[in-house]
Amino acid sequence: MMKCKDATHLMSEALDRPLGRAERMRLGLHLLFCGGCRAFRQQMDFLRLATRRFLERND
Ligand SMILES: [Zn+2]
Repeated sequence: MMKCKDATHLMSEALDRPLGRAERMRLGLHLLFCGGCRAFRQQMDFLRLATRRFLERND
């Protein structure tokens, strides 16, 4: 199984490029078993949303 370090790395990579099928599967499997990384992803989703709202407001 993928390490948390790799999982968080992949999640931030996903912001810049679409992940491959194998990467998504490995990451999904890790998230299934790892609450810490699920929390990390939620936090990242929140930040991304907040950033987008912030940028839209200033456009
Ligand atoms: Zn993890």
